[in-house]
Amino acid sequence: MSFNSVIFRHLTINEPRFKCIFKIQDSILFSIRSFLRSEGFIEILAPIIGPCTDPGIRGAKLVSIDYYGSKFKVMSSMILYKQMMIKCYPKIFALSPNVRIEPLEAVSTGRHLAEFRQIDLEVAYAKCEDMLNLAERLLKKVIDDVLTNCSDELKFLGRELTPLKIPFKRYTYDEAIELLSSMGYHVSYGCEIPWDAEEALSSLHKEPFWITSYPISARGFYYLEDESRPGFLRDFDLIYPDGYGEAISGGEREYRYEFVVERMRRNCEDPSNYSWYIEMLKDGVPPSAGFGIGVERLTRYICGLRYVWDAVPFPKIPGVISP
Ligand code: ASP
Ligand code: MG
Repeated sequence: MSFNSVIFRHLTINEPRFKCIFKIQDSILFSIRSFLRSEGFIEILAPIIGPCTDPGIRGAKLVSIDYYGSKFKVMSSMILYKQMMIKCYPKIFALSPNVRIEPLEAVSTGRHLAEFRQIDLEVAYAKCEDMLNLAERLLKKVIDDVLTNCSDELKFLGRELTPLKIPFKRYTYDEAIELLSSMGYHVSYGCEIPWDAEEALSSLHKEPFWITSYPISARGFYYLEDESRPGFLRDFDLIYPDGYGEAISGGEREYRYEFVVERMRRNCEDPSNYSWYIEMLKDGVPPSAGFGIGVERLTRYICGLRYVWDAVPFPKIPGVISP
């Protein structure tokens, strides 16, 4: 794999294909914003640093900085802050920058960046069902708009994109594991689905599809345990088809102070590292649900790009020193 186009980005950035990709990306961002506004959301400013951040990031490492003598984290996701913000306004979203120091092996997936952005949204009193429905309509609108506004660019990139058919197919985690096992991939039960297995599952599909109800051991402390199915979460991932892999993660939130502390203990997290968050939960926050959709991965899928680092002007590939 050669990273020259990234290391010498100043020499490649004016290539016609980048002009097409970034025009399409602009259309994607414009559509997301106008769709969410039409659904009653307001856009807020995302945090970049803070005393704590999202620990549930599939084996990637967090970045710490010295903040006037205190240890701060660079946001791996703004999940904890989304739960704070819905105390102010019930439907919010942000274009949130995230840093995750992914293992070097992540490069081989072609879909991991160490710095990326997600459209992160949260809705007070919402349920998983509401979020799946919202995400399906959002993606449909984004792709319809790209087809209308960027047909020349898609043509130049050789991307044959068709309107999405919604609703998307849904698998539970258990069903996905079973399907994988029939394909010869044996996932250790209770763990995240590994990248290669996820890619294989993705390659089997021609439309995006959902995987819901992950086991509690596979995810962070902030997803709600399903009362009707103890040991499983009220959460979901969306997977793009044709091998593109993970698009969205989200779910309903565990918002009750004692339950969160218990979950942190089970995940070997020290609650004292999350002091403002714990204090906030003690005071009380509304129940909510939400999700995050990676902007570079969405661009990669829509443009039909082999590598996610072609879907961002100034990419940070794990382990590669570049502008
Ligand atoms: N925090 C999740 C992530 O970054 C997204 C969410 O649950 O809203 O994967
Ligand atoms: Mg995820």
